Amino acid sequence: MNKLMRDGFGRQIDYLRMSVTDRCDFRCVYCMAKNMTFLPRQQVLTLEELQRLAALFVGQGVRKIRLTGGEPLIRPGIVELCRNIAALPGLRELVMTSNGSQLARLARPLAEAGVKRMNISLDSLDAQKFRAITRNGDLDRVLRGIEVARGAGFERIKLNCVVMKGRNFEEVPQLVQYAIEQGIDISFIEEMPLGDVGRSRGESFCSSDEVRALIARHHALLDSTENSGGPARYMRLERHPQTRIGFISPNSHNFCGSCNRVRMTVEGKLLLCLGQDDALDLRGLLRRYPLGDQPLIEAVQQALRRKPWRHDFNPEGTVQVVRFMNMSGG
Ligand code: SAM
Ligand code: SF4
Repeated sequence: MNKLMRDGFGRQIDYLRMSVTDRCDFRCVYCMAKNMTFLPRQQVLTLEELQRLAALFVGQGVRKIRLTGGEPLIRPGIVELCRNIAALPGLRELVMTSNGSQLARLARPLAEAGVKRMNISLDSLDAQKFRAITRNGDLDRVLRGIEVARGAGFERIKLNCVVMKGRNFEEVPQLVQYAIEQGIDISFIEEMPLGDVGRSRGESFCSSDEVRALIARHHALLDSTENSGGPARYMRLERHPQTRIGFISPNSHNFCGSCNRVRMTVEGKLLLCLGQDDALDLRGLLRRYPLGDQPLIEAVQQALRRKPWRHDFNPEGTVQVVRFMNMSGG
């Protein structure tokens, strides 16, 4: 086992989530405020810098990289970046989280570039509700993206759905049915209190236990010990074994004890925990040491020693971290 990427509690960190942009073509109500300002270009890591950091982390023992954002597919040069990262010796899998809006165009090039699995956000199957949640998303475009992605050659596709009372909770059974028909997985996520999105999150908070009880009214659910290397707990549907139902419950079922990941913002901040503010500025080091990685490696190892034991999200949704999710490599 690699000792270089151990944190102060002995947890092995082999999963890096990299944000490749803070920008997005959607403005989801749980992720962003209505009016957002984005980072100026010089503060954003270049493609070469992103690639250099990916190589550094893989060299230190990271085995899985997830590219995310913002919306990763609106970053120019994303397919080439994927191809270069996927080719890093030692990396087991390159995966991505996307809102699906660009997948009709990019799913095949991405699969061909070496992206193994794709998570696609889908919070509603009703065009109006979808637009209300994403503020400007086009449901048909995303559904077309999912269709193309299914034929593109990914090893697995999973839908991600943030469940909110009064917005999409009642739609959970239809979303499960859609995943069954498509032969893909679906995870239901509890909303996390990241950033001030201009409303109280407590009112719409919906726990994974409530979502599971609603699904259980329609399907026999079987416990599963499966793990895809992330925070989701999985269940199987007795009559539809090809579809896994995941629950990501940062508020109600703390999963920090088995945390194996760190996040990199597109400004090059290494976030040691999604729910805490402590971070290491790697952009400064990258630019100060253009030729040698050793100072960066030492700084990463020191930072890992201060990775906190856990986050402290609560269902009331009080803002504890001012950073928005699009800045966090969610
Ligand atoms: N734009 C891409 C997308 O939406 O899939 C990737 C970035 S997005 C920040 C990554 C995931 O975080 C999405 O599945 C989204 O639903 C989820 N997310 C965003 N804000 C969240 C919040 N406050 N609580 C829980 N999940 C959130
Ligand atoms: Fe964009 Fe994804 Fe955030 Fe929605 S969740 S605003 S799609 S980054």
